[in-house]
Amino acid sequence: MKFTIAIDLGGTIIKIGLLNNGELIDRKELQAQSSTGLKAHTPVLEIAIDELMMANQLALTDILGIGFSFPGLVDSSKNKILSTNKKYDDVSDTDLVAWAWDKWAWPLYVENDARLALLGEWQFGAGRGCENIVMVTLGTGIGSAVLIEGKLLKGKHFQAGNLCGHLTVNHRGTLCTCGNKCCMESEAASWRLPQLIKTNPGYESSSLKHENLLDYEALFRNSINNDILASEILDHCYSVWSSGIISMIHAFDPEMIIISGGIIKSGSVIMPELQSRINQYAWTPWGKVKLVEAQYPDSAALFGADYMVRVSLDIR
Ligand SMILES: [Zn+2]
Repeated sequence: MKFTIAIDLGGTIIKIGLLNNGELIDRKELQAQSSTGLKAHTPVLEIAIDELMMANQLALTDILGIGFSFPGLVDSSKNKILSTNKKYDDVSDTDLVAWAWDKWAWPLYVENDARLALLGEWQFGAGRGCENIVMVTLGTGIGSAVLIEGKLLKGKHFQAGNLCGHLTVNHRGTLCTCGNKCCMESEAASWRLPQLIKTNPGYESSSLKHENLLDYEALFRNSINNDILASEILDHCYSVWSSGIISMIHAFDPEMIIISGGIIKSGSVIMPELQSRINQYAWTPWGKVKLVEAQYPDSAALFGADYMVRVSLDIR
């Protein structure tokens, strides 16, 4: 029996999984501060991995390798991180492959986190049986990945399919963090919500004024209670999200869209609404694109990392 170690670097949490061919045997979570870089976290990461090994009575030779999920641009053919975005910015100077080999004599493979989450859902979750999938993560930011004919779309510079959040959805919109104007993210990601709500003339008389945290959850809750501003902004978000998803459908011709991210908590409300807008506006003469919730919104990248290691080593 051979296991893999999966590491998923998030902005505030590092998830570490011990897997066996799509089965999550054990996991650990470390609090992280991505702005302080990766080197600051390496010692605790090493300890956590060694603890996982000990708790499961495994020897170094029981592990096939490490699958490493990173929130940035990754050259997966060279296992090299190409670009970061204010998360673990020192990682470009770190040779991750050498780190894993020197410490444990394991091979290490790196991929972008959105692509690994899609791999995980495709192989073990909501996307099983489909070969053409777009996955969109709606949360603090908006991420995406694309699978076409059973292959992850990567592109010349490893950006292909990842930038759903930076599709232009309103040519009269505001400046985005990426430098473009009017992106899906700058129109309706959760980082934009407080500004969107507070600058609206209806804010003073809205029940949203009494919320400490202006996130999607507050928006849904106040909209259900018939707050006019919450309903108006929620409708705006639905328009932005469905516009972006329809652009992904028109660009990549998927049979399925998997939705993941913080928004899934309100999935029973948003999924039918998004499906209805997509059915109405997407040009798909062959039929309707199926919109589904991610099966593993919390751990898909760990499953994807396990799969990546096995495929890379040709052990399945
Ligand atoms: Zn942008």
